[in-house]
Amino acid sequence: MISYKLLSAEGEARLREVTENAAEEALQLLLYATGMDRTAYLLRRNDSAVREQAEAYRRLVAERAQGEPLQYLMRSQDFLGHTFAVGPGVLIPRPETEELALLCIQKIRDRGYRRVFDLCAGAGCIGVSIALKCPQTEVWLFEKYEPAIGYLQRNIPASAADRAHLIETDILNAPAKALPQPDLIVSNPPYIPTGEIPGLQREVLREPATALDGGDDGLAFYRAILRHWTPLLPVGGFAAFECGEDQADILCTMFSHVGNARKERDAFGADRFVTIEK
Ligand code: GLN
Repeated sequence: MISYKLLSAEGEARLREVTENAAEEALQLLLYATGMDRTAYLLRRNDSAVREQAEAYRRLVAERAQGEPLQYLMRSQDFLGHTFAVGPGVLIPRPETEELALLCIQKIRDRGYRRVFDLCAGAGCIGVSIALKCPQTEVWLFEKYEPAIGYLQRNIPASAADRAHLIETDILNAPAKALPQPDLIVSNPPYIPTGEIPGLQREVLREPATALDGGDDGLAFYRAILRHWTPLLPVGGFAAFECGEDQADILCTMFSHVGNARKERDAFGADRFVTIEK
């Protein structure tokens, strides 16, 4: 029988060809397959692995080696301290999107905003984080794509369920008349130009094209937001979007008619966000 430690080393060797983070990913998959936490692993790493667990682990490693994203295999991704359910059919929350959510949370606290729209909510990481961290605020999460809606429903925690409303709709269309007026609109829409999709990393190609593809120039969703959604904001309202690095300047020009639009860098130094003060 093989020990947990050797099993992990075996997984690491197998994953070296797909990720620079092979040791950490191999260990995370081992913990996932065995149900151990890191402490239990340290205490038991020289024990013989349970056979079914070793088999399950090797299957996970094989899938990861084929390019399946780690988060899909482990069914979750942490975002601002909360664990979100993810899996095939929904975009995996990215670290830069945490910065977008934080920027909104700060603005909500400074301004005392009460109503927030999260357009193209996906797994719900932005809107749910806002609902969790801003207890006075109500959030409407808009999502069209059915698999994402399934994750979104699971990701709205009971503690915020009365303040986080899921709306199944295509934001490319005009909003329903019965909606309340938002103080803040946030969105991480699909923004990759259609022609660039085939050249994306193998892992990213496992994610739904509907969450990535922003049309010919990648700007289709921002145009719809400009046309149908930012007009809903009152004077003194705020909007914040994630975008591709080479889209920030164009978006600032597009949204300059709405209010004071500026671009913001993410922690990697890329022009990743555009904010608008109406
Ligand atoms: N940031 C994502 C990526 O690089 C794209 C997400 C999106 O289109 N909103 O894969």
